[in-house]
Amino acid sequence: MPELPEVETVRRSLAPAVGATITDAWSRGVGLHMQRKPPLAALKMLAGATITAVRRHGKYLLVDTDAGKSILVHLGMTGRLRVVPSAQEREAHTHVVIGLGARQLRYADARRFGQVDVVETAAERAHASLAVLGPDALNDGVDPVALLARAKGKKALLKTFLLDQSVVAGVGNIYASEALWRAKIRPSMRAHRLTAAKATALAAAITETLVRSLENHGTTLRDFIAADGSEGSNKEFLWVYDRDGLPCLRCKTLIKRTVHQGRATYYCPTCQAA
Ligand SMILES: [Zn+2]
Repeated sequence: MPELPEVETVRRSLAPAVGATITDAWSRGVGLHMQRKPPLAALKMLAGATITAVRRHGKYLLVDTDAGKSILVHLGMTGRLRVVPSAQEREAHTHVVIGLGARQLRYADARRFGQVDVVETAAERAHASLAVLGPDALNDGVDPVALLARAKGKKALLKTFLLDQSVVAGVGNIYASEALWRAKIRPSMRAHRLTAAKATALAAAITETLVRSLENHGTTLRDFIAADGSEGSNKEFLWVYDRDGLPCLRCKTLIKRTVHQGRATYYCPTCQAA
């Protein structure tokens, strides 16, 4: 599933679409799991508008136009947002196509857990998907004091707490494991047991983890590609995620895999003692 570095990589690779004028829109007419069908009528209304910027908050992308409206996109698990020549054959599972003259912005999503919507740019935070998001982990930074305050009284496992997008927007399953390993904190620790020192270490580790992955253009495990079709190389640099049975990069203890709330978690039983 694309997380902050992957979505930010897509955002950056969409730069060639900025300045383009929307000429038309098409939708396959098939519903996505998280919403009704993509709003084709609202997308068609954008014809004649020019794309002014592509922004991101957490794992959401916002394609702004000079019509005062933005196209909201969440990649879900397998979503791909690409800019391609109009003549290029459509890949399977293409759900939305935004015409940009000789090029097209296309949204394809095999498993349909993503989302495409149109929002009022000035009132974007009123949209149900964005209203619940906390500060963006990269643009706003991770504040250890706020992290500690949110963790107070929370019985959830720290790993689960980190996946709550209202705490920090953008951290997902891969980088939660990575950041906890970096900060030497056991993922199964209860959130309310977080100390000021651990919150400081964790906040720094989250930032480091995300920035590092972004420098490697994200982590491609299976589906993730940027808007230009390229894969990320961060998989080679993961410290702990997907490394069960391999030696810890710090202490050589074998990395363990466990499952929290249906999501795989990786940790070093020695370095991450508590
Ligand atoms: Zn270790």
